[in-house]
Amino acid sequence: MDAAQPRIVVVTGANRGIGREVARQLYARGDTVVLGSRDLARGRQAAEELAAAQPGGQVIPLRMDVTDPAALRAAAAAIGERFQRVDVLVNNAAILYDTWQTALTADLDTVRAALETNVLGAWQTTLALLPLLRVGRGPRIVNVSSEAGSLETMGGGTPAYAVSKTALNALTRKLAAELATSGILVNAVCPGWIATDMGGPGGRPVAEGAAGVLWAIDLPENGPTGGFFRHGVALPW
Ligand code: NDP
Repeated sequence: MDAAQPRIVVVTGANRGIGREVARQLYARGDTVVLGSRDLARGRQAAEELAAAQPGGQVIPLRMDVTDPAALRAAAAAIGERFQRVDVLVNNAAILYDTWQTALTADLDTVRAALETNVLGAWQTTLALLPLLRVGRGPRIVNVSSEAGSLETMGGGTPAYAVSKTALNALTRKLAAELATSGILVNAVCPGWIATDMGGPGGRPVAEGAAGVLWAIDLPENGPTGGFFRHGVALPW
């Protein structure tokens, strides 16, 4: 992949938090960023703020509610019409860091909602964009996961979130295996504890979380696939 070539990068949940910072950093270095958000007004505002703050590539807000297959199909059609390809998909959107419940007290509707967005959302976004990724340049899929989903270190608490991230990790392995001959590298990354709305106060700055995502975006052609990393260091599954 020619690092000097601007890439077409789609980031879900990019109107705030780590997704927004990933979008900002990519835009700042000249890439074309499709800033996905479930609420188009919020996405437009974030895109305007990014573009106003500094010169860069292009930032294009699109409605991409990852739980809405029709919205994803429409987004894929719009991207296909404009660019004919996608080079990188960052499945970043997620909900429900459920610190208030345990597996024993869990409200299963809450668990269902987490699985719907955090697992099936990433899954159907990937499927919607796969035809465009297959013709992308140095294509990458980056699933923003969490060490909370690591089975090896898993304890009690945050059941909806943790189980959803374990499933996202499994999806990462499946996609990587099934796309092994396609040239598309698929990896899961944990950004670390980051001070966003989800992470709360006390976490590391958002730029640091985004850097771990950019590491997986910037992998060379012979880079790893089907891995789970934090800032380039392999994590236990
Ligand atoms: P935030 O809660 O700050 O932001 C989440 C983003 O996801 C928002 O833009 C939100 O949109 C979007 N989103 C939620 N549901 C949907 C949906 N159905 N369709 C599209 N977008 C949606 O989270 P973070 O930035 O902290 O987290 C980003 C990623 O990093 C997540 O995958 C998270 O699990 C992971 N992570 C975060 C850690 C942390 O410490 N912060 C630690 C480990 C992992 P809206 O504004 O509309 O709600």
